[in-house]
Amino acid sequence: MALINRRVILCQRPGVKGKPTVDNFHTEDCEYPTDIEEGHLLVKTLFLSVDPYMRICMNADTGTQHLHPWKLGHTISGGGVGIVTKSRCDMFVAGDIVYKDFNWPWQLHASVPAAQTNKIDTSVTNNHHSLALGALGMPGLTSLIGIRERAQLKAGTNQTFVVSAAAGACGSLAGQIARLDGCGTVVGICGTEGKCRFLIDDLGFDAAINYKTDDIAARLRECCPAGIDVYFDNVGGEISNHVIRQMNDDSRIVPCGQISQYSIDIRCPLEKSIRDILKNRRIDREVFASYNYNSLFKEGIAQLAKWVQEGKLKTRETVVEGLENCGAAFVGMMNGNNIGKQVVHVANP
Ligand code: NDP
Repeated sequence: MALINRRVILCQRPGVKGKPTVDNFHTEDCEYPTDIEEGHLLVKTLFLSVDPYMRICMNADTGTQHLHPWKLGHTISGGGVGIVTKSRCDMFVAGDIVYKDFNWPWQLHASVPAAQTNKIDTSVTNNHHSLALGALGMPGLTSLIGIRERAQLKAGTNQTFVVSAAAGACGSLAGQIARLDGCGTVVGICGTEGKCRFLIDDLGFDAAINYKTDDIAARLRECCPAGIDVYFDNVGGEISNHVIRQMNDDSRIVPCGQISQYSIDIRCPLEKSIRDILKNRRIDREVFASYNYNSLFKEGIAQLAKWVQEGKLKTRETVVEGLENCGAAFVGMMNGNNIGKQVVHVANP
């Protein structure tokens, strides 16, 4: 009997300025990879990551050097975790739990090159495999390295830290890490009252602002009376303009991402009045991408794992069930349905 395999393809582009919909994705049967090349692994997918950058990959032209457009009719790929079911590489054996930050196919069974695949230390994740896509993976490293390398916090000086998309994967970790690294006041900006409660009650943020219902400028003045020293920017656009207007001289922005622009125009320049504020107040806002800091990953994961094990860094996930719901999970995340890291549970080991 032929072995069953399934995959998700991109079947339509949303249009450069269109909102992505579930109709852009299609799940279908596909061939089971029986011939595994030397140096490859046959893996069964356990979890898949859906990430904001994928919106840019849905365009025929991504407008950036580092992201390639997804091809119509081809299997989508991104971050994934799986179990090795057959190995043609000495470094791996069947049963290993492995992950990749990029290029893991949205497919139940797949052949992946061993060279770019990492083994998960299951004693560190405590068999919570999807953590390798969240707190102990790219979002965790992005938050930690962004803060350590770019925010330059000065512990004990009562600095004020603001983070946008604060209840999401990176944001929820960045706010907690800022506190762990000695920040005085931590304020999150997010899109629902439930998320605001999560930030204050569960993560210990000092204040939370609902950008959909609150007067952002007035609430920032209230929550950050001494001005803003560090802004961890996940969203860009008008929310970030409000924050920048209240930043102090010689303060710093970690420009992590600009999700508010991904379905509009990621090349959209800052307006002149904001550029003037950055210049006049000497606000640092240099491009930040975690993949430029590979040499810090091992040490970073060790730090994050220690905090998680000690209960100092709280992790939260929103889990959607089933490969066929990857598109829905992605669209949901883009619309703010997630708290913490959005993952898709595809199969059990
Ligand atoms: P999240 O888990 O934060 O999910 C995205 C969230 O963005 C949603 O839950 C939603 O929350 C919010 N959002 C969506 N649309 C808007 C909008 N128009 N305005 C404001 N908020 C919006 O995703 P990640 O943590 O994975 O990513 C966060 C950011 O970090 C992204 O910009 C991403 O591209 C970037 N990133 C950058 C990396 C780097 O190396 N520089 C690495 C990883 C991520 P809400 O309910 O609050 O609206």
